Amino acid sequence: MTPSALITTPSCDDDFDPDALTCAEARQRIAAQVRPIVDVETVNLRAALGRVLGASVTAPFNVPGHTNSAMDGYAIRATDVPSTGIRTLTVIGKSLAGRPFLTPLPEGSAVRIMTGAVVPIDADIIVPQEQVERQGDTIAIDGRHRRGQHVRAAGEDFRAGQIILEAGHLMTPAELGLLASLGLGEVTVLRRPRVAFFSTGDELCALGQVLSAGGVYDSNRYTLWGMLTRLGVEILDLGVVADDQAALADAFARARRIADMVITSGGVSVGEADYTKDILAELGQVRFWKVAMKPGRPLAFGDLGSALFFGLPGNPVSVMVTFYQFVQPALLQLMGATARLPVTVKAKTTRILKKRPGRVEFQRAWLARDTSGDYIVTPTGDQGSGILSSMVNANCFILLDMDTGQVDAETLVDVEPFFGIM
Ligand code: AMP
Ligand code: MG
Repeated sequence: MTPSALITTPSCDDDFDPDALTCAEARQRIAAQVRPIVDVETVNLRAALGRVLGASVTAPFNVPGHTNSAMDGYAIRATDVPSTGIRTLTVIGKSLAGRPFLTPLPEGSAVRIMTGAVVPIDADIIVPQEQVERQGDTIAIDGRHRRGQHVRAAGEDFRAGQIILEAGHLMTPAELGLLASLGLGEVTVLRRPRVAFFSTGDELCALGQVLSAGGVYDSNRYTLWGMLTRLGVEILDLGVVADDQAALADAFARARRIADMVITSGGVSVGEADYTKDILAELGQVRFWKVAMKPGRPLAFGDLGSALFFGLPGNPVSVMVTFYQFVQPALLQLMGATARLPVTVKAKTTRILKKRPGRVEFQRAWLARDTSGDYIVTPTGDQGSGILSSMVNANCFILLDMDTGQVDAETLVDVEPFFGIM
């Protein structure tokens, strides 16, 4: 007799899985496990790019160091500004950048001054050169000028001893310039996390090999390498590991000895999951296995001894989405960086967005502005989790929440631009 209904288990194809965590729950559980690195080292200023400050930095002197001019013009005394009519002042010297006028400014006189040059003692107004009439060694001014105008006060940016950057600050080119302006050639930064990663799958071929029957080239190790390199972590590439219990156990044991975080791709979906689950149960602990998201539901997280573990799905797009949404924030936390939430904007979708309720979706899309300047967003075609061109042609994710069903064209949706997160 043929049974009338099949007994099935939850699959990646289902829209709702009662065992899956929400993205927010997954993020919280991850954040709760991360123990930020505290070891510091001192590096040259240039080498600090992309690193996280291990101690706050205080200003060794006032910035700017001298009261200086914000315009090309004339330094004068506020008491010489006429209340009515015009007044003539004698130009008695010059103050150029790096070549100050060293004596106090007498009453009734002016000093020619250039942007950035030191304002002479007793001068407290800069009159822009466009607002005077110059004749020989005199200038004529009117009554429009106010005390302090176009004067940059010493210490108005930072006072000596003031904290200018807090520990946990991620160093970008602007911070390099700021520290250089203070004469600081060395910086205390936190140790970089060591991240070990490997791909799993019998079908995976290395670049340079001839593709085997049914084989695919291992692309995940390249996207992972790129994403990790951008974050400035120390990379330990452990290659490809076959779908074999002993080989996987070896790789996990090795990775956990050398790394602060271990990332794998593949082998966490139904079928292959058991190997990884068993091995992790022995060497560490799995904290969750599934997240209600698309792509990327089979996302494993846990720990391997003192290392954090992320088991990313094998599909190339899922690897990138789960990395940016979960691994990157965890790595920044591990690096000791102060948390920053990604920026999202609202944009009008130019197309219908296919979606069923039950999980959050990260659709790849292109964000632009229309002729009236409003943000519009267009999905990058086929959203299959194996279609890497959907990432290549994208500059943002469209975020569709759990309960959202199909979205009509012209609807406002939440968009996360890549520049904010990548
Ligand atoms: P899995 O999660 O291991 O079942 O893999 C899901 C899909 O992703 C399969 O089509 C795999 O061939 C593919 N895949 C897994 N790992 C990689 C990889 N490193 N590079 C490219 N494709 C992969
Ligand atoms: Mg596999």
